[in-house]
Amino acid sequence: MTVAVVGAGLTGCLLACYLARRGLDVTVYERRPDPRTGKPERGRSINLAISERGRDALRRIGLEERVMADALPMRGRMIHPVSGPLDFQPYSHDGEMAINSISRGALNNTLLDAAEAAPGVKVFFGHRLTGLDPATGAMTFETADGPVETVADVVLGADGAGSAVRGQLLAHRDIEESLDFLDYGYKELTIPAVDGEFALDPGALHIWPRGTSMMIALPNPDRSFTCTMFWPTGGTGSFASLSSPAAVERHFRANYPDVVPLAPTLVDDYTHNPVGLLGTVRCAPWQSDGRVGLIGDAAHAIVPFYGQGANCGFEDVVVLDQCLDETGGSWSSALPLFERRRKENADAIAEMALDNFIEMRDKVASPVFRLVKGVEHRLERALPGRYVSRYELVSFSTVPYAQVRRRVRAQQRLLAGAAAVLAGAVVAGLAGLRRRS
Ligand code: FAD
Repeated sequence: MTVAVVGAGLTGCLLACYLARRGLDVTVYERRPDPRTGKPERGRSINLAISERGRDALRRIGLEERVMADALPMRGRMIHPVSGPLDFQPYSHDGEMAINSISRGALNNTLLDAAEAAPGVKVFFGHRLTGLDPATGAMTFETADGPVETVADVVLGADGAGSAVRGQLLAHRDIEESLDFLDYGYKELTIPAVDGEFALDPGALHIWPRGTSMMIALPNPDRSFTCTMFWPTGGTGSFASLSSPAAVERHFRANYPDVVPLAPTLVDDYTHNPVGLLGTVRCAPWQSDGRVGLIGDAAHAIVPFYGQGANCGFEDVVVLDQCLDETGGSWSSALPLFERRRKENADAIAEMALDNFIEMRDKVASPVFRLVKGVEHRLERALPGRYVSRYELVSFSTVPYAQVRRRVRAQQRLLAGAAAVLAGAVVAGLAGLRRRS
């Protein structure tokens, strides 16, 4: 049995490791050159927050320790208002649980090393998939030496949001696809170390919520921070609206005053770093004839505001592996089963990730939000395991995303009911007092 994995990104590499453990003959095809030997792309460092779902997938295959050696735990959000003191908001009720900042490039390299070292895995770089016949598994790759034709029994598309495998399924099969781009893009800035030390608290994910836009910063092992601005792509307050170095400086002094002294390359970064797009990919079916399948961002790219895209791709790998176990290794049964199990969960996290954008760029700055979070954490302590916040269920558990959404809705109904009873009791009490006085 030969399996081709298209894409040596985070999902493709982990998938190759899992498939190798099943004794399969796996070939990974990657369009880029080997990232371990080249220079990283400017302004695309992206540091990720890896949380429990990703860690669980790495743990099951003995890679957690290796990956976590490079990670920095962040136990909460540090809110930076335009003026006034910083506000630390812990992620969990006990203040102990953390998401982990890690460079996407470093993580990808670790996983590539692991995939290449796995028995039965071959990796070809500089191979861009340009053609695929889903009926036969025949593939065409564009390489520096011209086109290469090959075939595999099973072809898995782990080739990201703009998946060429998905494109080939669209060309040959009856599949539906929707790509919803946000009216927001992202651009990176750097806050370097100051005298060899972190310029901000490295134990937090820093957020500058500014209503219709925001910036975040995550720590790196070299004691720098990578900041990511999430700004509108058009109109006032958009990237394009700041057209000169002086305008960039003025805007940052007015809106992100504490960042200016910490970011000496601010104007250069702003001027030269690219603007990335953000969007949600939905498609169905995810597989064809049990021979070609989609996984990770190729099946369900989401916006990054819950820090779950890679975590979700890693969880996909675990679920596909379980489906193969349950079907005795039959791909024609496992791929449809995988889609049935995973699709509603991918849809659920896509929706929650969009919701969280509003929370991060706007709500976190409000006193009401802080109050609600405080009440929520108190409830979690009072009802351990019975009341668990959405953030904790998403980031610190492996409860399927669709179940998280259902459970949180039920908890919200309960809370609203309790609040109504409480309000009723207060009103009745006040009325009683008034009658007596
Ligand atoms: P990709 O990482 O896109 O990898 C696909 C691979 O396929 C690439 O190597 C590509 O070169 C290759 N490829 C593409 N086309 C072809 C072709 N035709 N032939 C051969 N190879 C091909 N996720 C988190 O979990 N936590 C976070 O905090 C987080 N933050 C993010 C912040 C930002 C700004 C962004 C943009 C994303 C963030 N994500 C985060 C999402 C995360 O980066 C993605 O979900 C994850 O990288 C998806 O992995 P993947 O392997 O499925 O796809």
